[in-house]
Amino acid sequence: MALNSLTKLLLDRAWLLCDGATGTNYFSLGLQSGEAPELWNVTHPSRVSGLHEAFVDAGADIILTNSFGGSSYRLKLHQADDRVAELNRAAAAIAKGVAERAGRPVVVAGSIGPTGEILKPVGLLDVSDAELAFKEQAIALAAGGADVLWLETMSSTEEMRAAALAAAHTGLPVVATMTFDTNGSTMMGVSPQQLVELYRELVPGLVAFGANCGIGAADLVGALMAMRDQVTQSEILVAKGNCGIPQFVDGDIHYSGTPQLMSEYARLSRDIGVRIIGGCCGTTPEHLAAMNEALIDHVPRTPPEIDDVIERLGPVTLGTRAYCEGVAPVAVSRFRRRRRKTH
Ligand SMILES: [Zn+2]
Repeated sequence: MALNSLTKLLLDRAWLLCDGATGTNYFSLGLQSGEAPELWNVTHPSRVSGLHEAFVDAGADIILTNSFGGSSYRLKLHQADDRVAELNRAAAAIAKGVAERAGRPVVVAGSIGPTGEILKPVGLLDVSDAELAFKEQAIALAAGGADVLWLETMSSTEEMRAAALAAAHTGLPVVATMTFDTNGSTMMGVSPQQLVELYRELVPGLVAFGANCGIGAADLVGALMAMRDQVTQSEILVAKGNCGIPQFVDGDIHYSGTPQLMSEYARLSRDIGVRIIGGCCGTTPEHLAAMNEALIDHVPRTPPEIDDVIERLGPVTLGTRAYCEGVAPVAVSRFRRRRRKTH
């Protein structure tokens, strides 16, 4: 594959900073609960570019387009399923504009999140239908100027496969991150260790992979520690952890992480060899600036044990601990309520 802006940067730099949250930052800019963030690409493009700019100013080398819920299945909930091409193209074009004005290389990553449907064999959606929907989205992101496609927050391997096949139609490099839940595995029970093998099999054009979102920053680091032993020297890991643990306050979700906590999360990620580090839900430009400062001065330390991670970032689930210690957790429930997510 020809070098593109991401692979070029990875040759030059030991680590790259990815941006923070989209959805949770839009809420503080006025997004209403139940409103599709992707519509802002057309109705409020200056708010979308403003958040990208704030992340670039904080040091981000990679910015994710405002298109996480931009598949027809997600947009259908907002009667906008016939606007996939328009909204995704606009998302990529806005981010590209910010990148071009940055005065240094900034990679535009076309974000593709899950459909919100459950795929066969567990659910009803055909893999081929999901692939068609993702293909429409991927082609629009590429047309708008995305440098790479970023498949994120997937929890089923069937859906990751569908998105990866769709992404391959664009010829762009692909970054893939899945989400680990309270069992320390993906929702469908795939362990972090198994996932490394699956990424290699499932995703053509894969340049980096890892984990995003899920529970808190501590569990995310734990999941990457479990993946790390399977990873070769040339493979590139991605950490995009939530800003602390989500807590419900008066019906709203709040993230507890401080800039100090996210700085330590970033340093620990480097200590275990992660090369692309960002924040997921709750991560503001202020958090990202603190992470950038922390990474600039950081000389990677001896890789931590899970108890070191707990001491610095807070508790992890029993599942995460078990996978880090190389044993499969027992007697864990695989079922929990799914909730609609934004980033
Ligand atoms: Zn998230």
